[in-house]
Amino acid sequence: MSYVIRLHNSATGRIEELHPVIPGTVSMYVCGPTVYDVPHIGHGRFVLVFDILRRYLQHLGLTVVHVSNITDVDDKILKRAAEEGREPWEVAATYEGVWWDTLEALDVLRPNHVPHATDYIPKMIEFISTLVEAGKAYVSSDGVYFDVSTVADYGLLAHQSLESLRSGARVEANENKRSQLDFALWKLTPEDRWAWDSPWGRGRPGWHTECVVMSEDLLGKSFDIHGGGSDLMFPHHENERAQASCLGHPFAHIWVHNGFLVAGTEKMSKSLGNFITLPELVGSNDPRAYRLLVLQAHYRSPLAVSVELAADGARALARIDQALARLDAEGLAGAEPDAQVMAAFHEAMDDDLDTPAATALLFQSVTRLNSLIDQGERDSAAAIGAAVSTVFGVLGLSARTAAGEVPAEVADLFARRERARADRDYALSDTLRDQLVDLGWVVEDAKGGGVLKPRLP
Ligand SMILES: [Zn+2]
Repeated sequence: MSYVIRLHNSATGRIEELHPVIPGTVSMYVCGPTVYDVPHIGHGRFVLVFDILRRYLQHLGLTVVHVSNITDVDDKILKRAAEEGREPWEVAATYEGVWWDTLEALDVLRPNHVPHATDYIPKMIEFISTLVEAGKAYVSSDGVYFDVSTVADYGLLAHQSLESLRSGARVEANENKRSQLDFALWKLTPEDRWAWDSPWGRGRPGWHTECVVMSEDLLGKSFDIHGGGSDLMFPHHENERAQASCLGHPFAHIWVHNGFLVAGTEKMSKSLGNFITLPELVGSNDPRAYRLLVLQAHYRSPLAVSVELAADGARALARIDQALARLDAEGLAGAEPDAQVMAAFHEAMDDDLDTPAATALLFQSVTRLNSLIDQGERDSAAAIGAAVSTVFGVLGLSARTAAGEVPAEVADLFARRERARADRDYALSDTLRDQLVDLGWVVEDAKGGGVLKPRLP
């Protein structure tokens, strides 16, 4: 069995087959957060979309090298630090902590590499120097700028020409730039305490340089997937690509962008004062509910999210939990997954990650599972049940036990154990599994990840 996944490439506007640069290993860079505040719901969508993609690729037997950065130097962090009367690095550390806690609650696998901008300053300076020497960037009185006119296909991701981008640009006039589309690679901020020395003077790097330097450093000059929310397509990703391609680097082969978030049945906006943060949404219900909402919409479509919709999701998940608990209680767990269901699942997922079809298949299979158990069709029930359990796991929806809540200590051990296993740290993974056994829990390993279950007496 070999599957070739097809993904929509924003650079070409076409759905293309993914053929990794290194066969068997998919390199994926996903733009991470700027850590100046509690994550909002939109952050949850992109992390879940790329977590689902990663888990599915791993299920196909591919190794995924997943890189996602932390922007820990930015004007927004400085502003926040001034407001809170704290040091910028303290602000960044605080909100990075909130970020990882929230992702853990969402059962998102940790990226294999998490580069921090502040650790990459010397490499960014080196890269900017290369651009200046190559005549792609110029030094101005307030910093170093990239000259977009040196990139023949600038506007590729925006699907607009340089001319039309110029006329539509909303960038404020800056007499230090040759063109209003040129962007800062290095900003001179000699008055700030939070600045680094450079050949051009004390200052800070620009955000667009951060991602190009970190992705190439960890994944090479030619890698498979570059992802993020569609709001990053222009100018952020356009500008990353410009810096790499002007030096002749192939850079990312497939650009994957997830769609916007729209208000659900309740209005949610910062201006209305009822804006709900990601930790609030996760805490309002079954933490898996948001993942289900993300799965039920195609990743490129708009997604409606609200507390009410999350509650609907939680009820739907409970139905699957119950069916799987029933499968267990009937002694039918652990069979070979039904081949037809699995083929239909792969067909949907290979088709540009058609998770709405995969989720519909999951719910149809649960209905079928219940009626097969009712009819005493034990062999068929076992096969369908195994398929439900596998698909559930691959999508990152580990089953909850009939007993309900998993104690926090157990959930934490389990999350650490899953991470250790993903990192191929089998010694640590085994130690954590033993600790879970001591607490009365077992982990059953499936292709998409472990499933936590209470140990039978
Ligand atoms: Zn980025």
